[in-house]
Amino acid sequence: MDPNALAVQLLRAGSLCDQCLGQQFARIGHGLTGADRGRLMRAIARPALKGAELAPGPCWVCGDAFAHVPAWAERAVELLADHEVGTFLFGVRLSPRLEATQEFLAERFPSPWAEPIRRELNRCLGRAFERVLAEGGRSAGVHFSRPDVRFTVDVERSAVDMHVAAAFFRGRYRKLVRGIPQTHWPCRECRGRGCATCGGSGKQYPESVEELVVPAFVRACRGTGAKLHGAGREDVDARMLGRGRPFVVEVLAPRRRTVDLTAIAAEIEESAAGKVEVLELAFASPSAVESTKGERADKRYRMKVEFGAPISSAELEQALQGLVGPIDQRTPQRVRHRRADLVRPRRVHNASGKLLSPTAAEVELLCEGGLYVKELVSSDQGATEPSLSQLLGVAAQVSELDVLEVLDNAASASSR
Ligand SMILES: [Zn+2]
Ligand SMILES: [Zn+2]
Repeated sequence: MDPNALAVQLLRAGSLCDQCLGQQFARIGHGLTGADRGRLMRAIARPALKGAELAPGPCWVCGDAFAHVPAWAERAVELLADHEVGTFLFGVRLSPRLEATQEFLAERFPSPWAEPIRRELNRCLGRAFERVLAEGGRSAGVHFSRPDVRFTVDVERSAVDMHVAAAFFRGRYRKLVRGIPQTHWPCRECRGRGCATCGGSGKQYPESVEELVVPAFVRACRGTGAKLHGAGREDVDARMLGRGRPFVVEVLAPRRRTVDLTAIAAEIEESAAGKVEVLELAFASPSAVESTKGERADKRYRMKVEFGAPISSAELEQALQGLVGPIDQRTPQRVRHRRADLVRPRRVHNASGKLLSPTAAEVELLCEGGLYVKELVSSDQGATEPSLSQLLGVAAQVSELDVLEVLDNAASASSR
């Protein structure tokens, strides 16, 4: 097939716009826009048409969709308003008519050089969008996998929709007081609607690490809301000390992405004074959520343990050494309603402690992530094996718990 002959056939079949004509030859030549290519093919075909070229009219393939591109680009910039945008991507929803005429074109005038009209529409939209942005003194680049802003043009409705991608930040938090959950818990009585028990707040606890940390991010980014994703979570009554626990904050529909992290940290320090601190704030990518939540780092704990009967230092010492090694832990009774009931193999790396009285001790443990340490002490009615209670032969209960350290062994954990 000769491209020139095909161009003559195409132009004889009906009125075609430059872009639709050009798309039939998209794989020939480089450095030309679709419209340039169409104009070129039209000029080459003209002599052979001998004046038989049809009078200009609406393009029978796209219905002059390309003529709407400047208006759609204007609309996109209007929607964008003052959202900070580094990268963008356009997508096009073709009308059924446009899908049909394209199919007909491919059947009737098959071209080995053709590209889908959609691709040219996307390109033209992107270029027009960048032009309108530039007029306002702004710039942005196309990003195919993770654009800041995604526009969808519906050809049939001639409408433009915008979706602003979330902004992500990571850091570590320290929880200095007991009684604060990591994320907000709906009230058990009313499930969040608000009742007498929760004083109408709909919450089981008045505040959470999330509620103390995310507002500063939402304000700085001028987003519509935010979520905190933790690398695991400590119990409500446990403190989180040391270098803190890794987290990712996801800010929804942000208008600002380049924000001052030092100012955010300072704001959190002021508003959550004495309760929560954040360390090592940094910008993050969306994939940080999965990698942070999936992290099962080793943890160092310090706890106060109360015994049901007096024990000696030697007994404590021996029992703690007996804890070091593999542990079979069935899902604790208190979490069986939300976690699969099965026996998980875990490890205690190190255990030490000292008696505070014949019936109380301070214990430090270094153990694998995902091990429930309260049950490691109490035995959870035999569901954790071995346990401190079982090794001592007396009842044992954690009365105070601190996470001293979340270790940086994410890399070694994932390679195991
Ligand atoms: Zn067309
Ligand atoms: Zn309630």
